[in-house]
Amino acid sequence: MTKPGPSTALIHHPFRAPEGWDAVPVPVHKASTMLFKDTAQLNTPKTRDGISYRYGLPGTPTTYTLAARIATLEHAEHCVLTPSGLAAITLTSLAFLKPGDEVLLPDNAYGQNRHISGSLLRRLDISHRFYDPLDLPAFQALLSERTKLVWIEAAGSVTLEFPDVIGLLKASRAHGGVRVALDNTWGAGLAFNAFDLLPDAEPGLGVDLSMQALTKYPSGGADVLMGAVCTRDIALHRELVAMHENLGYGLGQNDVEAVLRGLPTIALRYRAQDAATRELARWMAARPEVAKVFHPALPDSPGHAHWRQVSPEGAACLFSALFKPAFSPQRIDAFVDALQCFGIGYSWAGPMSLAVPHDMSRSRSLGLPWTAEEGGTLVRFAIGLEDVEDLRADLARALQTLAG
Ligand SMILES: *Cc1c(COP(=O)(O)O)cnc(C)c1O
Repeated sequence: MTKPGPSTALIHHPFRAPEGWDAVPVPVHKASTMLFKDTAQLNTPKTRDGISYRYGLPGTPTTYTLAARIATLEHAEHCVLTPSGLAAITLTSLAFLKPGDEVLLPDNAYGQNRHISGSLLRRLDISHRFYDPLDLPAFQALLSERTKLVWIEAAGSVTLEFPDVIGLLKASRAHGGVRVALDNTWGAGLAFNAFDLLPDAEPGLGVDLSMQALTKYPSGGADVLMGAVCTRDIALHRELVAMHENLGYGLGQNDVEAVLRGLPTIALRYRAQDAATRELARWMAARPEVAKVFHPALPDSPGHAHWRQVSPEGAACLFSALFKPAFSPQRIDAFVDALQCFGIGYSWAGPMSLAVPHDMSRSRSLGLPWTAEEGGTLVRFAIGLEDVEDLRADLARALQTLAG
């Protein structure tokens, strides 16, 4: 090149940072274009460890580093990352279902998983049916030769029933030809090992696929949307990678960096939020305004024995309080509005505690775990990292709005 102009000089600048500058944080590699030394290298597709180094869309060294760490968190071998938790659900369903197939979902599945089954999957001629996560015989009766995918959620969304994971898994295995996918956002890879649920009794008994919204615990910051699907089976991983390519899922590297930054503290945050949540759940359960509290570690919460079976220690930062029917939805809204330490909003596992009233009547197909005489409005609480004494005092103060 003759002496280049200023733009050319900046774009083709010869300085390259020396290799071997090592530090604790993972470097943030941003790229759409990746450069090849020459046309010979361009024409020789290069993959290493199943990773294709040709273009930025499938990932960069930053993404692959996060994927490897999430696989470790999940006790898996392989991981694909997606732009959100919902994108990870969609990826899983599209990778393993084709027209004519059926997917079984727990009735307490994450709302958007219910939604895509009734919209996107229906358009592809993929049917779905809901099962009661606590009724194993009814689940077995739903398995047919069309069943190709079973979703499990432990614990389920909002009502937090803990399913008979072992029973569901064994029934699916016995049926044959069914892939079992767990939405493991609640357990986060920490409450239990999804790929080895009964290590002492039956080593290796586990799900085929574990999906997680990294938006929740792995990020921990309430600032990133991301998802992951993990497996120990290379054939399943390849199918996920192929569908991932079809969908063109890419990730912003600053978001990947944010999750890499959240990961080192995940176990500490999980434990601290678990302890605070149990304390507040028990306290709420003793309040006269409350009919019942849903939290898998409470002995009268649905599926408590199943939780004990696979997860004797860990539980996530969620509980739901069912208020007595005497309190109208409007009064419960006033209680939530009176809270000062709790934000009103979706998502969870971030620093700020959150509270959301839920109208459950439209989000279950098989009925609710309570009758109209037993309970009225449900409020889901997500406990953050504030001081637990302040949260308790805030709840006590706001509950006074229900007096009189
Ligand atoms: C939040 C959540 C998701 C979806 O994650 P997004 O990143 O918000 O799309 C999926 N499953 C469960 C159980 C969740 O809580």
